[in-house]
Amino acid sequence: MDFALSSDVVEFRDEIRSIIREFVTPEIADRMHTTGVFDAPELNLELGRRGILERACPGLGKGDPIEMYVMFNELEKAGAPYDGLAVALMIAAVVNKLGTDEQKERIIPSIISGEALVCMGYSEADFGSDLASIKTRAVKDGDEWVINGSKMWTTLAQVAEWLILLTRTDLDLPKHKGLTMFMLPMNTPGITVEPVHTLGTEITNATWYDDVRVGDEAVLGDENGGWRTMTTVLAFERGVMGGTNAGVPLLRHFHEWAVANGVFDEPTTRERMARSIIDMQVATLLTMRSAWIAASGGMPGLEGSMTKVFAVEAYQRASRWTQAAAGPAGLLQFHEEGAAGEGFIEYDARHSPVMSIYGGTTEINRNNIAERHLGLPKSR
Ligand SMILES: Cc1cc2nc3c(=O)[nH]c(=O)nc-3n(C[C@H](O)[C@H](O)[C@H](O)COP(=O)(O)OP(=O)(O)OC[C@H]3O[C@@H](n4cnc5c(N)ncnc54)[C@H](O)[C@@H]3O)c2cc1C
Repeated sequence: MDFALSSDVVEFRDEIRSIIREFVTPEIADRMHTTGVFDAPELNLELGRRGILERACPGLGKGDPIEMYVMFNELEKAGAPYDGLAVALMIAAVVNKLGTDEQKERIIPSIISGEALVCMGYSEADFGSDLASIKTRAVKDGDEWVINGSKMWTTLAQVAEWLILLTRTDLDLPKHKGLTMFMLPMNTPGITVEPVHTLGTEITNATWYDDVRVGDEAVLGDENGGWRTMTTVLAFERGVMGGTNAGVPLLRHFHEWAVANGVFDEPTTRERMARSIIDMQVATLLTMRSAWIAASGGMPGLEGSMTKVFAVEAYQRASRWTQAAAGPAGLLQFHEEGAAGEGFIEYDARHSPVMSIYGGTTEINRNNIAERHLGLPKSR
């Protein structure tokens, strides 16, 4: 394992940093919090225009997924809204790995140019952790598939051009085996989107599918092979694509507030800052390990779980103590006078619990580690 970045990756990182300096403005951050959409189209287009998204997309770039890790790590540390980009690029990588040539040509360019976003329709109201039990049906009707059902937590559905959708196609096969993944345009007739507001500011959605008709060209991966497609996606989601250094912008905001308010020199503040900075460094190293495994042709499923559990809990610890240390100012929100860290301290305290839910909950990731790494028996 070699954590040193090659000189061309360092150049790539520096180019991203310069784009961030130009495009990640306070207005972009403000828009993210007022709209609940964690995405910045102008930033995506610039990254696309400069070929950075293509290079960061596993299978398309040169040394990726190291580059994918580098890009998301830089965006996350800068506090940029990158969720839209993360989902889009992750799915572009899956299309590149499992899609047909026709799908690659039709779908990937729209994503790596920074123009199109993707939303993920896996979870349903009753099935999130237990995804293999989902009920949304796709039934063959002549040359077409007819999809009926509903999904919950379809984040970005209100702005995405593409939808990746997990369906049940065979009721007779064991539950993991009767699933098929589809990739279709969001403007396909029969899809309805309704917003769901969350504690962490982000607006996600409930989505409904009423006689949605698509052809075989929409099947991503093998028919009844949806579980494999699903696990390919999750391996990227847990570990390499951001979500592991969210404490870095939080600590920056807290540091500015602590200096301005004369509490930075208190020994307890400095000790807590030091502990959280060490936590972020450990999270970075765990993320780099996942990226390195992926770059070496492996699938960082287990390591991704380890990374996500550690990083999210470190972020939660940091958000709790910074809010407590800021006192009443830590309860004030964006645009409220006197808000600590201009409202970020309060925001991070709400956002950090949510991160332990999506992309696999902390308990599910702990089970994964217990079973696959420690050899403990299955919990259920
Ligand atoms: C803000 C947000 C955005 C999201 N975005 C998307 C998206 O874009 N697309 C999408 O498809 N989904 C999305 N999700 C859904 C997310 O992946 C699920 O919420 C998550 O997998 C948990 O599923 P659930 O909500 O059904 O909870 P449940 O699975 O019902 O879990 C409830 C509790 O039980 C625990 N639990 C469940 N099973 C076990 C077990 N076997 N062992 C131990 N504990 C267990 C869980 O850890 C949790 O604490 C999003 C969720 C949120 C909150």
